[in-house]
Amino acid sequence: MGMKGSATAVLNFGDNGHCIAELLGPERKGIQVMFHMMNEQRILVGMQGMAQAGTAYLHALNFAKERKQGAAFGTRSAEQTAIIGHPDVKRNLLWMKAYTEGMRALIFYTMYCMDWETVTLNKDEKQKWHDLVEILTPVCKAYCSDKGFETCVKAIQIHGGYGYCHEYKVEQCARDSKITSIYEGTNAIQALDLFDRKIRMKQGAAFAALIGNMKAAVEEAQAIADLTPYAAEIGKGITAMEYLTTELLAATTTDDSFLAYSCASPYLEIVGDVVMGWMLIWQATIASGKLGKDDDAYYTSKILTAKFYASSLLPMVYGKILAIRKNDRSLLQMTDALFGHA
Ligand SMILES: Cc1cc2nc3c(=O)[nH]c(=O)nc-3n(C[C@H](O)[C@H](O)[C@H](O)COP(=O)(O)OP(=O)(O)OC[C@H]3O[C@@H](n4cnc5c(N)ncnc54)[C@H](O)[C@@H]3O)c2cc1C
Repeated sequence: MGMKGSATAVLNFGDNGHCIAELLGPERKGIQVMFHMMNEQRILVGMQGMAQAGTAYLHALNFAKERKQGAAFGTRSAEQTAIIGHPDVKRNLLWMKAYTEGMRALIFYTMYCMDWETVTLNKDEKQKWHDLVEILTPVCKAYCSDKGFETCVKAIQIHGGYGYCHEYKVEQCARDSKITSIYEGTNAIQALDLFDRKIRMKQGAAFAALIGNMKAAVEEAQAIADLTPYAAEIGKGITAMEYLTTELLAATTTDDSFLAYSCASPYLEIVGDVVMGWMLIWQATIASGKLGKDDDAYYTSKILTAKFYASSLLPMVYGKILAIRKNDRSLLQMTDALFGHA
């Protein structure tokens, strides 16, 4: 696919059979130094996926307002209507808005944690922020890059045939965003990092602290009458994710270990889905307190987006959880040779 206009090069060492490397710094410390740099890069790659999604959303929104096609919903009018009025287009746009704003908040929050980790002089505080950054990094990277690409694909769909052509920007968004799930550690590697390392950090204490933050945000939202049922939905999602985490971790110590690890990517997706709920309900809580002042439309849109996510998107997480819980062993019975019989 290629990143057009990007100065990307491949360096091959040792092609002529004579390649000498020189050790910089102490032996066996290189990977630690590299990870220090790479962790920040991973969040930035997540930001790249999110930014492509945001761009694609705005292009799709503009197009949907301008493009006229078909009669207005429920009419047989000969006059063509803007496609934003069609139920499917409208739903797709709100889907895109919800994920884009959830991802943006997640990236900003993680960077906020990084800032606090850097500036605080209190050792315990520093550790607290550090743990949050550690646990959220693979989610930022993998979830935002996968969802970012998915959002760009939706933007192409909204454009119809135009979206598939070079002349319309969303084609470039999809192409450029795809790399984000591959470099800085593929998303499968991010999923293993989350599943095998981060949620086990400090015997699960860091993960528990993250859950605590999520539940506190839900509790705050629940106190606002207009948001109560939506906050409850997010709370249900958090609890379901917690149970799944315990079950999957337990499975890694049994004969089902391979099966459990094969679920690392779907698991990360589930965590990301729930994190989106947390981010959106948090925004809705803040927005509720600002209604009736300047920018009313902005805050109303925040609240409606969070409600839509809690009711229409988050519940899909239960299907994903159910699919993991089925514990079906077909995957284990598939030998390499059987894959060839397509
Ligand atoms: C445009 C572009 C720019 C790049 N820029 C840089 C750069 O600046 N610097 C740099 O160092 N690299 C760069 N890369 C390389 C990039 O980081 C690697 O392509 C990436 O890390 C994946 O490694 P790989 O290609 O060897 O794939 P592989 O590691 O061979 O992976 C292939 C597939 O197997 C899966 N897989 C592999 N191991 C596991 C495992 N243990 N468990 C589960 N699944 C697994 C992967 O998820 C993937 O789906 C760039 C790549 C591209 C395309």
